[in-house]
Amino acid sequence: MTSSSTDTPAPVLVLVPGAAGAPADGSAPFQLADPAVAQLSVTDLVVTRGDGIFETIGAFDGTPINVGPHLARLARSASLLELPAPDQEVIAAAVYAAIEAHADVPELTIRVMYSRGIEGEDTPTCWIDAHVSADWAPYRTGIRVASLDRGLSTTVFDESPWLLQGAKTLSYAVNMAAVREAKRRGAQDALFVATDGYVLEGPTSTLLVHRGDAFLTTPVSAGVLPGTCVNTLLAALQDEGYEAGEELMSLQDVATSDGAWLLSSTRLAAPITHLDDTELPVDLGLTARFEDLLTGRA
Ligand code: PLP
Repeated sequence: MTSSSTDTPAPVLVLVPGAAGAPADGSAPFQLADPAVAQLSVTDLVVTRGDGIFETIGAFDGTPINVGPHLARLARSASLLELPAPDQEVIAAAVYAAIEAHADVPELTIRVMYSRGIEGEDTPTCWIDAHVSADWAPYRTGIRVASLDRGLSTTVFDESPWLLQGAKTLSYAVNMAAVREAKRRGAQDALFVATDGYVLEGPTSTLLVHRGDAFLTTPVSAGVLPGTCVNTLLAALQDEGYEAGEELMSLQDVATSDGAWLLSSTRLAAPITHLDDTELPVDLGLTARFEDLLTGRA
C-alpha cells in the first residue's frame, strides 16, 4: 500500500513469464515488479510492430468482474493473431495477485498485455498492470456520440481475417484517432459505421440498443469485439423476459430507438444522449440498474 505525493495509490505491475507455459529457467509463473523501472525490451514486437493483444478488466470494491470471459476473449484474440495460447489459469492468478497488491480503491482498472515477444524468441511477453480507474462519472450520465466511417464492411471478419477485426489487438492508434475526431466534432465518443451502412461498435465499447421489448447489439460476425459487458446485460435482460440478441442495425435504427448505450468494463454503461444531431431518449433508472449488474453490486 504505497501512495504517491498526489495521494493517488501507486500502480501495481505483475510480470507473467509463465503466461504461455512454464518459464524455461524454472522461475515463478508471475511476480510483482517495480512499475517505475523499465521492463520491456525495445525489440519486443509489441514495440516495433504493435503486434500483441490485451484485455481491460474492471474491479469494483476489490472484486474483478468477468475474469473468465475476459481471459477467454484473450485466448480468442491470440488464436486470431496466431499467437501461442495463453495459460488462462496462470493469468487469472496474476490478475488476483495484482488486485491484492494494490491499495483498496472503489474502482480499479486491470490491463492484461500479451505481446508476440522479443523478435526471434517466439515467447510471448505478458504483464499486468493495475491502476486507479479514470473518473468515468460524467460518461455514466450521458454522452454525445459522433458516427464515423470505419472504412470496412460487415463481411471482413469472414472474408478478410488478416484485418483482425474482432481481435483486441495492441494496435489501437486508429481507435484513439476516432475518439479525437469525435471530440473535434463536439462529441465525447464515436460509433463506427461499416461501409455497408450498419453500425458496428465504439472505439473502446460495445453498442446496446433498446427497441420496444428488445435489447440488441451488433453481431460479432460483423467484426466487432465480443463484449463481456453486453453479454452480462443481455443474459440478465433475457432472464427478465426481454428479447435480447444480435441484429445488424443502421444509424437510422439507432437514432429512432428507445435508447442506446456504449458499454465497456471500466466505463460501464454510458447512455447516448445524442447520435450526431439526433437526441435520443435516456433512461437513467435503467442505466443505474445496468451499472449494478456490471459492477457485481446487483
Ligand atoms: N469493443 C471494443 C473495440 C473495445 O475496445 C471494448 C473494450 O475495451 C469493447 C468493445 C467492450 O468490451 P467489454 O465489454 O468486454 O469491456
